[in-house]
Amino acid sequence: MEKIVNLCKRRGFIWQGSDVYGGMAGTWDFGPLGVTLKKRIMDEWWKFFVEEREDMYGVDAAIIMNPRTWEASGHTKTFSDPLVECKECHQRFRADKLGEFGADVETKALVAAKVKCPSCGKMNWSEVRQFNMMFETLVGATGEDEAYLRPETAQGIFTNYKNVVDTVYPDLPFGLAQQGKAFRNEISPRDFVFRSREFSQMEIEYFVNPTTWEEQFEKLLASCREFLREKMGLPAEAIHELEVPENDRAHYSKRTVDIEFDYPIGREELMGIAYRTDFDLMNIQREAGKSMEYIVKGSTERFVPHVIEPSFGVERLLMAVLCAAYREEAVEGGETRVVLALPENLAPYRYCVSPLLKNKPELVEKAREVYATLRAKYGRVTWDDSGNIGKRYRKQDEIGTPKCVVIDFDSLEDGTVTVRDRDTMAQERVAVEKL
Ligand SMILES: [Zn+2]
Repeated sequence: MEKIVNLCKRRGFIWQGSDVYGGMAGTWDFGPLGVTLKKRIMDEWWKFFVEEREDMYGVDAAIIMNPRTWEASGHTKTFSDPLVECKECHQRFRADKLGEFGADVETKALVAAKVKCPSCGKMNWSEVRQFNMMFETLVGATGEDEAYLRPETAQGIFTNYKNVVDTVYPDLPFGLAQQGKAFRNEISPRDFVFRSREFSQMEIEYFVNPTTWEEQFEKLLASCREFLREKMGLPAEAIHELEVPENDRAHYSKRTVDIEFDYPIGREELMGIAYRTDFDLMNIQREAGKSMEYIVKGSTERFVPHVIEPSFGVERLLMAVLCAAYREEAVEGGETRVVLALPENLAPYRYCVSPLLKNKPELVEKAREVYATLRAKYGRVTWDDSGNIGKRYRKQDEIGTPKCVVIDFDSLEDGTVTVRDRDTMAQERVAVEKL
């Protein structure tokens, strides 16, 4: 994991948030390469789940929502973690993570289990208290109105369900998709971008006739599998599906599947897909006093749809993509080659263009011409004329560029260039117009 974190920092993928001021715990900033990778992942998701389907629609809701949203959803009351403080060193911990405890763990259980402070080794615990993870904020010039930064994007979809039905009137089943930021005041953010306080989600609420939920669940699960393998390039053997047992599921959910990934930090949840019944729409119907019923076209049949929710965390997915792509290879001369074997559709750059020698104007001129052509065609193309060719290749290997294009003296004669492959290191002559 540390190698990947270092690579991300060294090459401009991801930095600690506000690191110039010493950092801000639980936040991360994306550099030029990281933001491109992240955007590629989000765009591929949008294309796969929204644009290529007839049954999906997008929404983009505000981050600051009416606080009644979180009353209705139960977040105000129950979106909390058990917090305990060591009275010796004043470090804070999630009490349930200090051993085999449930979310309702109390101090006496820690004491009975002789749990010591992971930081100082002493055993002097404060009372465990439930700590709400929503970020509070004050709205208005005098700050009279309390609100929250949304802890999930899902509620911004549910609150727009009726708007979509009233304006677009889609046939059932249909899905509403949203990408955007969410905020959770994690007690102990950890494991690089895996658990942070500010992150991005990609969520779908898929509205179905309740009699068909099982079939629709299977179909969506199959789509998620296809997306992870085909579009994100994650190896099948590193992905595991976990049927969440009843006592671990949210009380309203009749089926939840967690998709886990073998990260270097262990097997952890990458995404989840949950059958949420009519829980959320019924909460809104009750709280807002507005009917959430769907009237089936051409009939008098009406009901509140049930919902299946595939939920992706962007940074967790990005971390899986990076981990799956990272490898080290022994090469000639006892050296190690670091390769980020990103799929071509995700790589920050598809091509790197360079002149064989930077002090030969005719080579540079031709190379600039090829560079401009490829940029116009693919967008994600970089230029590199630093150091020698070998060093350029190593750098492009590390940032995941699939192909390096080199313009040499033959290029001026016959219009071909050398194309060097990141994964095989093989080189071939290719006509510029074939790129
Ligand atoms: Zn301590």
